[in-house]
Amino acid sequence: MLRFSDIVFGPIRSRRLGSSLGVNLLPPNGKLCNFDCIYCECGWNADGRCTPELPDADQVAKALEAKLLQCAEEGISIDSITFSGNGEPTLNPDFPAIIDRTIALRDRLCPKAVVSVLSNATMLGREKVVEALRKVDNPILKLDAVSREGADLINKPQCDWELETVLDGMAKFQGNFVLQTMFLASDEFDTADIAGRWMDIVRQLKPRQIMIYTLDRETPQKGLVKYSVEQMRTMVAPLIEEGFEIQIKG
Ligand code: SF4
Repeated sequence: MLRFSDIVFGPIRSRRLGSSLGVNLLPPNGKLCNFDCIYCECGWNADGRCTPELPDADQVAKALEAKLLQCAEEGISIDSITFSGNGEPTLNPDFPAIIDRTIALRDRLCPKAVVSVLSNATMLGREKVVEALRKVDNPILKLDAVSREGADLINKPQCDWELETVLDGMAKFQGNFVLQTMFLASDEFDTADIAGRWMDIVRQLKPRQIMIYTLDRETPQKGLVKYSVEQMRTMVAPLIEEGFEIQIKG
């Protein structure tokens, strides 16, 4: 399974974000998330138990500044400074301060890069988290299921999770966010079964971009089935016709 030992890692070539410098706000080598997705590249939460020590804003700024200076010196280009790592970045209590410092460092040392955050959208009830996410170029918010039952099958939330609460949180972005959805099939869950309802939600939220993707690496739950790019494109064809910008990654 893929876990990161440093606060700043890469840049790595991302399917969706180009040359991406990763920032991990979770514990090194472990995993901390309030979801336990059946497809998580970091593995099951139970296999990633660790000391819950999270880097603070000073530690993150120091590590990021050093890496950005090193990349500039070596002529390595960075398209995106991307918060992902070993779990859910918005669980770090310093997340709002970290975002402010990251934007300042980006402006000073790497002005062409965008700042992206991959989030499972469970913390949108916290105003400070929403405020911070609204400051970044790409708040990339996950929605894989359209009911609590579906979320239990694919994301296994370890927190309160209600569709209406998540949608209320996403609505605060007034469309200025990227919606990210995993397309897959398991014995119990199939994205094809929820595609109609999911498309209605997209029409309601009007995200400025939609990223749909499927399995790429080893998954903790075995027997999962990925979709081809063609299958995903067919499934979302009505939205494409309606003019939504959809990035599809196989
Ligand atoms: S939300 Fe992300 S980090 Fe958390 S379990 Fe799901 S895929 Fe893994």
